[in-house]
Amino acid sequence: MSTLNMVKFYGYITATFVGVALFVGLIVYTQCGGLPTTKETLGVNSPSYGSETQAAMDVINGYVGCEFLVWGDTVTVKEDDGVVCDRDDVLDRPEDDWDHAGTAYSCGSGKYEVIVSKPGNTNTTAHIIAHELGHILDLKHNTIGIMGKAPDPNGPNKRLRLRDADVDKLRARFCK
Ligand SMILES: [Zn+2]
Repeated sequence: MSTLNMVKFYGYITATFVGVALFVGLIVYTQCGGLPTTKETLGVNSPSYGSETQAAMDVINGYVGCEFLVWGDTVTVKEDDGVVCDRDDVLDRPEDDWDHAGTAYSCGSGKYEVIVSKPGNTNTTAHIIAHELGHILDLKHNTIGIMGKAPDPNGPNKRLRLRDADVDKLRARFCK
């Protein structure tokens, strides 16, 4: 073997060892609590606002650190067609003096509906849905982040983000 070939040979061995070590390290890291895994999930679906709902779920999952919001049938996100939880006697209000952009309802038997009354562009609608999911997740109103009251995802204090206290609360409940 020439010197050059020996250098190459040792190079390959070193690269193999480093590769195996990184792989083992990654397995240990993921199995030993480096990345949180999901303890409990909440199933969400949306016939009308699929991509906006996905965006809202991604934002919340991303901050909390485990994929606890999944597609499922516990929460339905829908447009405001005047019917809530299969009942048309719940939304008793004059159309034009009701200015909620969205509302979350508990239907009983563990099911929820999010009614989107004033959708906007994707970002605004995602913010409305994230806010209402926040209510279902028992988060309280705040002046900043998704629990700010006005759907203003581009405003200085109302971005699509979660407060640290809300992240901690959701992580304790849904991640391990
Ligand atoms: Zn609210």
